Amino acid sequence: MKKLYRDLTQEAKASYGITEDRNDESWVYCTTCDRAMKQGDCIVGEHGVMQCAYDDCMPEGNLAFQSLYGWDALQQELGGEAAHWPEKPEWGKRYERRGASS
Ligand SMILES: [Zn+2]
Repeated sequence: MKKLYRDLTQEAKASYGITEDRNDESWVYCTTCDRAMKQGDCIVGEHGVMQCAYDDCMPEGNLAFQSLYGWDALQQELGGEAAHWPEKPEWGKRYERRGASS
């Protein structure tokens, strides 16, 4: 059975958490599939890193590679590339990075 972030103890959340507040309800963004999800829905992988909550998201290569970022933090970091993103994203919707080379 998959282990979700929301099922972790507070202590484990402190080490696995992606967003600074470690909150289940905080949004995170997956750079593999360009979709957002609640941090609590992310899967705690065997490699000790958090994985995307979408079943059809298939990161190529190294599964130990973290592809998740806090929504707010990433949006700030990307600047113009993510200027069109809403403050609160929607589940299942793709949010592309403008001008991203990939
Ligand atoms: Zn994904």
